[in-house]
Amino acid sequence: MEFQTITLFLNRYLYYPVVLVFVVNLIQRQYKEAGTKKRYATLYLGVFFLVFWGYTFLLMRLAMGDFWLVLFIAAAVVPAVIKRKVVFPFRRTCPRCGSGVTLKTLLFEDANLCPGCRKADADGEARSGGPG
Ligand SMILES: [Zn+2]
Repeated sequence: MEFQTITLFLNRYLYYPVVLVFVVNLIQRQYKEAGTKKRYATLYLGVFFLVFWGYTFLLMRLAMGDFWLVLFIAAAVVPAVIKRKVVFPFRRTCPRCGSGVTLKTLLFEDANLCPGCRKADADGEARSGGPG
């Protein structure tokens, strides 16, 4: 069993990130168009964790060692790095002013704007007569 120590650990505890990511995804649904990119990103992450969890079951069933985890991680990391703007759209800072964003903005809003920049946008739209 020593050759499967990491696989056993992942098999036991990957359940929690799977549930957490899908719960966040369900909460994101109420923000509709404001957070579509982030909703898809959590969907991709949730599917990754779910498939990875299933892979640990397969490794245990076939009595394959921890080394085979590297294969899966490499196969997942390469496309994630290439498509990182799609898979990880979460930013901790505002792209305009660089100040921190709230947890709500971090998880649910695609614009990633801090409250100050969002207020400035709303004021500008109100002055120019709204979008469109
Ligand atoms: Zn800002």
